[in-house]
Amino acid sequence: EYYLDNIQQKNEQLNAFLEVWPEEARAQAEAVDAKLAAGTAGKLAGMVIGLKDVLAYKDHALQSSSHILDGFKSLFTGTAVQRLLDEDAILIGRQNCDEFAMGASNETSFFGPARNAIAPDRVPGGSSGGSAVAVQADMCLASIGSDTGGSVRQPAAFCGIVGFKPTYSRISRYGLIAYASSFDQIGTLTHSIEDAALLLEVMAGADTFDSTVSQREVPAYSQLLEPAPHYRIGYIRDCLERPGLNAEIKAATERALDAFRGQGHVVEAVDFPYLDFIVPSYYILTTAEASSNLSRYDGVKFGYRAPDATDLESLYKKTRAQGFGPEVQRRILLGTFVLSADYYDAYYTKAQQVRRLIKEKTDELLREYDFLVLPTTPATAFRIGENEKDTLAMYLADIFTVQASLAGVPAISVPAGEDSQGLPIGLQILSGAFREEHLLAFAKSVT
Ligand code: GLN
Repeated sequence: EYYLDNIQQKNEQLNAFLEVWPEEARAQAEAVDAKLAAGTAGKLAGMVIGLKDVLAYKDHALQSSSHILDGFKSLFTGTAVQRLLDEDAILIGRQNCDEFAMGASNETSFFGPARNAIAPDRVPGGSSGGSAVAVQADMCLASIGSDTGGSVRQPAAFCGIVGFKPTYSRISRYGLIAYASSFDQIGTLTHSIEDAALLLEVMAGADTFDSTVSQREVPAYSQLLEPAPHYRIGYIRDCLERPGLNAEIKAATERALDAFRGQGHVVEAVDFPYLDFIVPSYYILTTAEASSNLSRYDGVKFGYRAPDATDLESLYKKTRAQGFGPEVQRRILLGTFVLSADYYDAYYTKAQQVRRLIKEKTDELLREYDFLVLPTTPATAFRIGENEKDTLAMYLADIFTVQASLAGVPAISVPAGEDSQGLPIGLQILSGAFREEHLLAFAKSVT
């Protein structure tokens, strides 16, 4: 009732939830009460959770905040969501996001932007913007989002909460609407590291419905490890020297590094020679994958169908022209171009090669160091509309989050204070693949 009240009071302004399920949530809560009394309640008993509008939940609307999925309801429940339900989570509603998770401000949503609760004229970040605001403004305890190139970490940083993207393949993607399949990963937005750890423990692990999911055993993440007394921590020298980096974010990152030194950890600057190539290769590869993944929305199988089509070809064209917003269309065009016969080798193959270099170098650094520490974002939350016209600036602002996505390694954004205007700053920590236990232990010691 507490969360439902908050939604009632705040959602009209903040636009975090697209849909709320009060009756179902109450019924789930009552069932959990009974189980608690009987001593049979699951690990998430009483945890009130919101779902980004990219996660399939049977018989519930699912739209990726896009017009093209108008009226679509999911026919099944995805693996991660099912595991939440099996452990007695209470699902409270469906959350606003950038259309098909393409964006960094929630402004590409067909339903309009969500707003940052700290400063409602500012964006909450994206693409899991609604999910971040919902936690920030206490409209649910935790949100489940997705992170392809920063979409849980960046909004968490803008909203002053914890955003956690596990290793690629740690959580099944069955029932997650695909944006770029070799990057997409379900992640969490929470107030605490404990909640992030518990949710990972519940959602992670083998799944026959996703052939790419890791078969590794799932550690008891919620039993947080004691942090080691002496970690080796690296930071990429050039990240802190980037011209576009906000001075207060730089100072907050340096303060954190100094604090780590003070605690007895080894902190060293490292070189990462590919910084300028990570955003271009990310956008070539993700748009290529997206153009293929989004070809299924043709007006025949899902959701919206153009009413004025005259034949099959015009049905495809009109449905897609009317159903997809400008950012999604831009990415489909870009992706189709880089995959076209004449340009495939020049762009797509090249970007694959660059990705491999980035991954190998990142893995190497994460063998040498327990963690890499860097800012989550180059700037704090910007005003709604401020960057909308400058697509390239928006893409370039993903500079610090896409490295972990290209490399497939886990990364977490934790609150690291605020700037002089009171806007939250995020600190990002990366670890080697499947070292979430260590990453969470260290992140806990930082918060
Ligand atoms: N801002 C990035 C993009 O637009 C990341 C989005 C995401 O992680 N889904 O691609």
